[in-house]
Amino acid sequence: MDLGLMGRVAVVTAASKGLGRATALALAAEGVRVVLNARNAAALDELAGTLPDAVVVAGDITDPLVPGQLVDAALKRWGQVDIVVGNAGGPPTGSALDVDDEQILAAMNANLLASVRLARAAVPHMREQRWGRVCFIASASVRQPIRDLALSNMARTALWAWTKTAAQDLAEQGITVNLAAPGLHATDRLLERGVTGRTGQPADFGQVVAFLCSEQARFINGIALGVDGGAVTGLL
Ligand code: NAP
Repeated sequence: MDLGLMGRVAVVTAASKGLGRATALALAAEGVRVVLNARNAAALDELAGTLPDAVVVAGDITDPLVPGQLVDAALKRWGQVDIVVGNAGGPPTGSALDVDDEQILAAMNANLLASVRLARAAVPHMREQRWGRVCFIASASVRQPIRDLALSNMARTALWAWTKTAAQDLAEQGITVNLAAPGLHATDRLLERGVTGRTGQPADFGQVVAFLCSEQARFINGIALGVDGGAVTGLL
């Protein structure tokens, strides 16, 4: 299916590996020009070398200035920004009563505020063109908190609440705001945590995000789309 994205411009953060990289690849395969961000410039350069038209902006997405710089880079190179995909590394493990204030603030900065800042920088330009797609990569924990991932559970649900709120505000302006909620996927992060069991393929996940950003997904707004192989068992 042609997703109707040929010539669009996207910013994808945390894109050098795993789910972010897969998303950048899926968008590029649809003819989207992409600003790639992560901290490791060499890995991004390597990825950019495989894409038809991409810009690398290495930087730490937890720095409050970086999201705006990524949007500026898209505007400078192509004069538009149509799609932003907010993603970041996951926070460390910790049970609800063990995580301290400093850790909670760091997780909120990385997994809530960095994505909100990215949307905040891009939406004024999307409003002008009355077309935009904001999609965040979060976690299945927005529906089913994961034991010993208290930091992730808190930050993801806060981002989900922001998504739902922003979606209402932007619905009339041709802009959708959605969240993809992955269950276990076979990325480096998962391997490092020693998690085993049934896992999804990052490439499939990337295509799901690309669909959420597509022309045809124009009436999908304010959802948290589970991509978890049925692992979440709640009814909502
Ligand atoms: P991954 O394979 O470890 O990749 C993480 C990516 O984030 C890398 O490109 C890394 O590049 C980048 N990154 C990390 N910290 C960054 C920072 N401060 N600024 C900019 N880029 C940063 O992880 P993943 O499995 O794709 O997971 C992506 C997100 O989905 C995480 O938040 C994770 O918790 C969540 N998630 C993953 C799964 C899963 O099963 N894989 C399930 C649920 C949720 P650099 O190191 O070069 O910066």
